[in-house]
Order: sequence, then structure tokens, then C-alpha cells
Amino acid sequence: MSTNRRYEHFINGEFVPPSSGEYFESTNPATLDVLYQAARGNDADVDRAVSAAAAAFENPAWRNLSQTKRGHLLRRLGDLIGEHAEELARMETEDNGKLLREMRGQLATMPEYYYYYAGLADKIQGDTIPASNPAILNYTLREPLGVVGAITPWNSPLTLTTSKLAPALATGNTIVIKPSEYTSATVLRLAALADEAGFPAGVINVVTGFGAEAGAALVADTRLAKVSFTGSTATGARIASSTASRFIGSTLELGGKSPNIVFEDANVANASMGVVAGIFAAAGQTCIAGSRVFAHKSVYDELLERVANRARSIVIGDPLLNETELGPLAFQDQRDKVASYVDLGVSEGATVLTGGGRPNIPLGGYFFEPTVLTDVDNSMRVVREEIFGPVAAIMPFETEEEVLRLANDTTYGLAAGIWTNNLSRAHRMASRLEAGTVWVNTYRAMSPSSPREGFKTSGVGVEHGIESIREYTRLKSVWINTDESPLADPFVMRS
Ligand code: NAD
Repeated sequence: MSTNRRYEHFINGEFVPPSSGEYFESTNPATLDVLYQAARGNDADVDRAVSAAAAAFENPAWRNLSQTKRGHLLRRLGDLIGEHAEELARMETEDNGKLLREMRGQLATMPEYYYYYAGLADKIQGDTIPASNPAILNYTLREPLGVVGAITPWNSPLTLTTSKLAPALATGNTIVIKPSEYTSATVLRLAALADEAGFPAGVINVVTGFGAEAGAALVADTRLAKVSFTGSTATGARIASSTASRFIGSTLELGGKSPNIVFEDANVANASMGVVAGIFAAAGQTCIAGSRVFAHKSVYDELLERVANRARSIVIGDPLLNETELGPLAFQDQRDKVASYVDLGVSEGATVLTGGGRPNIPLGGYFFEPTVLTDVDNSMRVVREEIFGPVAAIMPFETEEEVLRLANDTTYGLAAGIWTNNLSRAHRMASRLEAGTVWVNTYRAMSPSSPREGFKTSGVGVEHGIESIREYTRLKSVWINTDESPLADPFVMRS
């Protein structure tokens, strides 16, 4: 099915066509219908958007807006997202295949992120610094950076954009967002809601298009004060070298290959649900996917059976339906990549305990069965590399030291899960696991107030929580001499 629906860039408070006149198609991954055409952004479009954001940063309507009023705007945007929750949830489900009920859950909490940063907006402040000279007043100003470039992936476009947009605005920056080419629609709708909330024109801009075109042009723009990126480690590395050579900051939220560890003293029924949630929710297309499962050898068989049985009973199909538990992968290359990883695993010696193929779903989309691999170990690529699909590798272990070594034997460090009823062990493991987030007897929990950081190649910098304010501000130290008498000795440093 084709469509006449078109999305333009959102620049300086208006929807504007691409300078090239070119558009690209976005497809519903469940039905393969073409959903809409989106503007194909290039250097000229990025130039326009960054110019608008740079002008908005200097515009007194934004620059001189009190921090309290910035908070009001964010609160209003949170309200509008809440009022449009169902519309936004459906748009995103159609665009990337995520379950509608998961999207409803995300939308139910999304306003809280804006309320959280609205609350922080008027608490962003410098300090008075003690000076040894009583005539000196030394204080700091915590200032916005300027124009932030934000680049986001397709797996949770609204949520991951929110993690950048809300703190960037709370701190007084302006922003140019380049959403994934697979999911342009909801971020554009979000920008329109921000406009309705009353943010001045140019504060929020969206340029849609491909990574190598619009994304690369945005990163290369020398007027940016910062790049905030969520996506693959490979793209993150490219962005990091570009920003580092210009000495501007970057926040990078990247890939993962997270361990989910089930000890012999765990409640195995709960743990098996945690394993299912960790790898099959969102069809495994989450950065925090618990794709490496380690089970103590005494509970290994039971866990395997429970997880495999639940995987076999997962309802695959239309993500709009309430009974569906697993929707499609977001696009064809993604499904092909997941399928080829399963083939690779088999060639490396893995056994496919369940799944491993394309189910016959009448909708015809990019579906893939929930898959459990056994006979795997840390030397195999299926265990080392991020698959970003519903594929769990389940391995037995014998001792705590052994599983700690295996869990940390990865280039990634995004998240980890521990299932145990031993309190001392929980704390011991939490402190020694090399991961930015550790969950004990739960998985996939997150909140606006809890900081999130990727260790190792999973990222640089913090999202969410009070710490994230630092990522979008810089500190200026101001020295005031209240003594009007002449300097005693101009050649000696004072403090
Ligand atoms: P990706 O790196 O391919 O693309 C992410 C974004 O970067 C897209 O908007 C893309 O257009 C853009 N891009 C691609 N090449 C670019 C370039 N050269 N210059 C500038 N921009 C460019 O990632 P993806 O496939 O969209 O997303 C999946 C990845 O994201 C996974 O690795 C996943 O783990 C990661 N992810 C991480 C988190 C986290 O918080 N750590 C959250 C979600 C997803």
C-alpha cells in the first residue's frame, strides 16, 4: 500500500520541505504498508536548523526566560504528551512495531520525565566559593552550552529523545534533533507539541533523514556546543572522534550485551520471567537486553525449561492487538541480521533449543521467533556481539567468582541482572559487575530520577537524574574584587 502522507522538517517553529525536494519512505514493519514519506535532510537543511537554533539561543524570548518559566513550559509539554498519549503510542507502534501496550506504558510515564526536569529547571545554580582573601567574592555560574545536536535510534524514539530533550531544555539550551530514518513521525509530532506548549521558535528543531547525510552533517556543524547520541557503538565511536577533535562534549548511550544471572538461591519462577522480560520484551530490540543468561548449574535445567516453554507460548503477531506479546523486528535488515546471527551461532556449535526461524504470520511483516540458544560460551560471536533481537544465549556456571568473570568478559557495560535471595551476594555482585545499571530480582526498571550511564564501550556520560544536568551545562567561575585600592604588586598571583 502506498500513501500520500508526508512529513516535513520542523525548523524555526514551522514544518518546512527539504531543500532537495526529496523524501524517503517509512514502512510499517508489521504489515509492510508504506506509512508516510519523510523529508530527506541534507547539509543545507541542517545548516538552516542549526542557524535557527543558534538564533533562538540568543533570542531574549528564550535566553532571558526565567528558569521557573522554563519549568512551566516543560510541565506544559508533559501535560500535552499525556493528553496525546494514545495518538503518540499508536504512531510509534505503527512505525517501529513495538507493542501498543508497551507504548501505552511508556506514554503513561513519559510526562513524568518532563515534570522531573521542570522541577529541576529552577534549581540549576552555581555556588559561592570560599576565598582566602576577604575582599574577593568568587562565585560560579552554571550556564547552558548553546546548540545541542541530538541523534536518536529507532527502537524507542520518543523515550530516547525525551532523555535528551528534557534536560537540554531545562538547562536553557536549544536543540536540533535527527531521529532515526526508520522512525521520524513521533519525534516530529513531539516537536509540534513543544511548539503548542509555547517554546519559542527555533528552540526545538527536527531534521529527518539518513545517518550518513543529515546525521553526519549535524555532527560536523561547528556551531554545535555538544552532541548527545543514542545508537550503536560503531556510530558512537565515529561521533566521539569528531566531537573530541573539536573539544566539544558528547553524551553517548550505546550498545550492550548484558548478563542476566540466576543463582541457585533465586526464586527460579520469578527469575525465568525476568529472563523472558530481559530478552523477549520489545522483541529484544533494547539496548539493555539481557541477552547473555547465566544460570547456576543446579537450577540450569529448570530455568531453561521455564524460559523455553514461555518462549514457545509467546503470542507473535499484530502489535496493535492487546493479546500480542511479540511484534515484528523494526525493518528487514534488522530481521536478516538477527536470522544470520542465529545461523552463525549454529555454525559456531550452538544448539537452537527453541525458535530460530521466521514464524508464519498472515500480516507478513518482519517477524522472528523468540529464540533460545544453548551449548554456547563466551568465545562465540553470538555471545560477544550485540544481536538486538529476541535471541537469548543461556549458559551454566558453578561459582560466583566464575560467573563474575564471565559476566564481565565483554566489551560492553550497560546493564546487568542478578537473581538471588542472598542479600550479601546481591551487594557483592552489584559492586563488582562492570555495568552502569544493576538490577537485583527485577529487570528493565528505569525512572527519570535514576542516573543511567554506560560503562566500557556502552557509553560516555549520564542520562536522567540530577547528574544529567552537568551534561548540558558548563561552569564559569567569576572573581569580584570588592577592594578598590590599587594592586600592591601586579606581578604576584592573587587568590
Ligand atoms: P545507529 O547507530 O545505526 O543509528 C542511530 C542514529 O544515528 C540514527 O539516527 C542514524 O541515522 C544516526 N547515524 C548513523 N550513522 C551516522 C553518522 N555517520 N553520523 C551521524 N549520525 C549517524 O543505531 P540504531 O541501529 O538506530 O540503534 C540501535 C543501537 O542503539 C543498538 O546498538 C542499541 O543498543 C543502541 N541503543 C542504546 C541505548 C542506550 O541508552 N544505551 C538505547 C537504545 C538503543
